[in-house]
Amino acid sequence: MIQIARPLLGEAEAEAAREAVLSGWVSQGPAVAAFEAEFARLTGAAHACAVSNCTTALHLALLGLGIGPGDEVITVSHSFIAAANAIRQCGAMPVFVDIEEGGYNIDPEAIAPAITPRSRALLVVHQVGMPCDMAAVMRVARAHGLPVIEDAACAIGAEIRTPEGWQPVGAPIGDVACFSFHPRKVITTGEGGMLTTADPALDARFRLWRQHGMSLPDTLRHASDRVLFETYPERGFNYRMTDVQAAVGRAQLTRLPGIIAARRALAARYGALLAAVPGVTAPAEPDWARSNWQSYAVRLAPGLDQRAVMQSLLDRGIASRRGIMCAHLEPAQADVPLPRPLPRSEAARDRAVLLPLYAQMTGEEQDRVVEALAAAVAAGAVPA
Ligand SMILES: *Cc1c(COP(=O)(O)O)cnc(C)c1O
Repeated sequence: MIQIARPLLGEAEAEAAREAVLSGWVSQGPAVAAFEAEFARLTGAAHACAVSNCTTALHLALLGLGIGPGDEVITVSHSFIAAANAIRQCGAMPVFVDIEEGGYNIDPEAIAPAITPRSRALLVVHQVGMPCDMAAVMRVARAHGLPVIEDAACAIGAEIRTPEGWQPVGAPIGDVACFSFHPRKVITTGEGGMLTTADPALDARFRLWRQHGMSLPDTLRHASDRVLFETYPERGFNYRMTDVQAAVGRAQLTRLPGIIAARRALAARYGALLAAVPGVTAPAEPDWARSNWQSYAVRLAPGLDQRAVMQSLLDRGIASRRGIMCAHLEPAQADVPLPRPLPRSEAARDRAVLLPLYAQMTGEEQDRVVEALAAAVAAGAVPA
């Protein structure tokens, strides 16, 4: 069986976890602080704040920008449902806009028409690790005074070309970027998330809220030779990462350049092989973006049935996934008013197929995937 994704974990992560366990400090402590410092260096962000997952990161990012009841946040429906849920969790409403033609990211042209007097922020997604057009997004956002949250759950190590050169996603372009370390992403801590920002005041609020709104973290009290009493100036949450997770994350960061190089080589090889398969369009990278290829999404020609193609792959021992979900088509978000239809989002969900891709993938495995896909297409891949 060729799986859709496989985390690259080994002795280094096992040893790191063991050391954290034996260190005597297992919740948010020195390993979390070290992981944050290394993550900030990697992304070029001034501040990095670790949390329990990307969904809690998105929640804190929205709260940090003051999003609350009655507010609207412009975002895509075509993404994992966590962002829409986080917006609702703040008492605000998502305003869904469509994605770009041919790709999976927000259509920057669709943003301005969606702005209303209640608009308070933009939440854009670097979908499947492909950076969205931040230059265009920031032009609209700045013109209307809207802050920008980047859902970078899938996009660690992806890069965007700016006038200053190539910048990793999470460097200050938007106001806050949110990352995930779920095993389906490019590196993992089991569960985990990170917020990056250039704004020290936002970072301070994230740190306060992730730990119950506590004025003095336990790490400070622990290290003090004077008795210190903490206070709780604001209501917070428990969104902490553990030191065991952070220790694993630090080991994963050392692997990241190798993982991304492997993924890019495999993506390029997929592109070359798929050029010979009719009815299947390989994804393209704009010249201002470098994807980390968190997922590899091909588009099926009309006439090919998505489920039949995926079943045919599965029958040959190859896992696949359909295109990214659309939140507005799920009961949980079906009550969100939809000012405009989202035809490209729905077509992307129903016409795309995600193929297996992981750093350890061999050329032989990749050949099997492409052969199976070609066979499914040749057989017509019509509904059973
Ligand atoms: C995975 C994912 C999330 C949620 O991340 P968790 O760490 O599982 O909470 C949010 N947004 C996108 C785009 C994702 O792919």
